[in-house]
Parts: sequence; structure tokens; C-alpha cells
Amino acid sequence: MIANTPVLSLVIPCYDEQDNLRPLVAAIRAAVDPLKLAYEIIFTDDASKDKSWEILKELAASDPRIRALRFAFNSGQSAALWAGMKAARGQYLVTLDADLQNDPKDLPKFLEPLKQFDCVCGTRVEMRGQGDNFIRVASSRIANWVRNKVSGESISDAGCCYRAFKRECIDNLKFFKGMHRFLPTLFKIEGFTVTEIAVSHNPRTAGQTHYGVWNRLFASSYDLLAVRWMKKRMFRYQVAERVN
Ligand code: UDP
Ligand code: MG
Repeated sequence: MIANTPVLSLVIPCYDEQDNLRPLVAAIRAAVDPLKLAYEIIFTDDASKDKSWEILKELAASDPRIRALRFAFNSGQSAALWAGMKAARGQYLVTLDADLQNDPKDLPKFLEPLKQFDCVCGTRVEMRGQGDNFIRVASSRIANWVRNKVSGESISDAGCCYRAFKRECIDNLKFFKGMHRFLPTLFKIEGFTVTEIAVSHNPRTAGQTHYGVWNRLFASSYDLLAVRWMKKRMFRYQVAERVN
């Protein structure tokens, strides 16, 4: 049964995305069906106020590969992603946004580098101007620069949640509000390997962004210090030998 043994779990947080959900599922099917891989799509409805949940229930009723959970109250993108990742059963997880800014067409591109790396992150740097206005692009660039400087990283687009990774990557993951921006660093702390690939970035055609410039620039400063601390202080060890 395809629905019982997915190789790939697509994990999608959703907050007030009613007009994006059907086109998104259609685009995912068009991109993933030809790969002949067993897959599932997991939506976390982060307590949407629009018709998202009704639509997700309809979609799930017509296709067992679509699974959905709904939060009792809005808990944020990180929590929605986390709950979806925990529910995922696939060997590989792919996270993407519900608004079609991340294009399902790019999904197959993640699979080849996944043979070599534990995590493959999408980066919108080249295509960003096509999907977002100048203010959004500029604030995101500044945020990425500061984040990399403070945490000693070299992730070109930490705000992009289009990523694919092996399920082991989340086994011991620390979770906190805003963690979605630090996932590659958190994986690296645990010893996993991370690479980047260029992805396209579409304009949002339905619904609204949930973040403003303030949020993009400053909301994660506090988390950034925690991640910097973790990177410096968390230990990893390897047992070389054992007796008894
Ligand atoms: N999202 C969510 N809970 C929230 C805010 C956002 O689940 O409280 C979802 C949203 O529906 C989308 C993704 O997180 O699928 C990214 O949000 P958005 O597109 O607003 O971010 P942007 O692309 O503007 O940075
Ligand atoms: Mg978006």
C-alpha cells in the first residue's frame, strides 16, 4: 500500500491559505507522480480562520496520501512544521510553504544531492527578485547576513523553508519558536551534512504574507543568540571502544 510506506513525506505548514491548497496539491502531484515514489503530503493547519481546514479535509478524503492535522490555536510556522515532521513516516522529508512561492516543480532537483548529503536546502538568492518586492528581498538579505555573522554560518538563505532531509536529522532536534530559520545549523550541530541548491521563487498570488519587515529583521535575534550558544557549547562525542 502506497499510503502506508512512503519514501517521501512532504510537510507543509498552512495558515489561512484556502485558495492555495488545491493548486498546490495539483502542482505536487504533477511534480512527484512521475518519480514513481511512494509519498505522503502532511499539512498542519495552524488554526486557520478561513476555509483551509474544510478544504484539507476534502482533499484528504479523496486521497489517502494526504494527511492533515489542525492545531487548536495558532502556534506559528515552526510549531506547524515541527508537528508535521513528527507525523511524517517517510524516509526523506521535504518541507515547503503552502503558498506556492516554493515551486513543487523544483522538488525532483533535491533528490540527487540527497544521496550525498543529509540535508539539502533551497536557496532563493538568484530568483528572489521575481517572487518578492525590494523591501522583502533587502530585509531578508540583511537578516541572513546578520544570522551568518553571529552564528558563524554560511547559509545563503536561512529564511527559505524549502528543504529536503533524511528523517534521522530530526531525531534529536531541539525545537523552539522560530527554529525553522535555523534548521540547517541545528542539523550541523548534530553532525549532519548540509548543502544548498538554487530554487525558483514565485510571487504569492493568493492569501497574504504572515511576516513584516520587523519580523524578518529582528524577531529572530534572541533565537540567534541561543543558536550561537548551542553551536559553541553543545558537545558531540564518539565512543571509540567499550568493555563489558
Ligand atoms: N504559516 C503558519 N503559521 C503562521 C504563519 C505562517 O503555518 O503563524 C505558514 C504559511 O501558511 C506558509 C508558511 O508558513 O505556508 C510561510 O509563511 P509566509 O508565506 O507568510 O512567509 P513569507 O513567505 O512571507 O516569509
Ligand atoms: Mg510565502
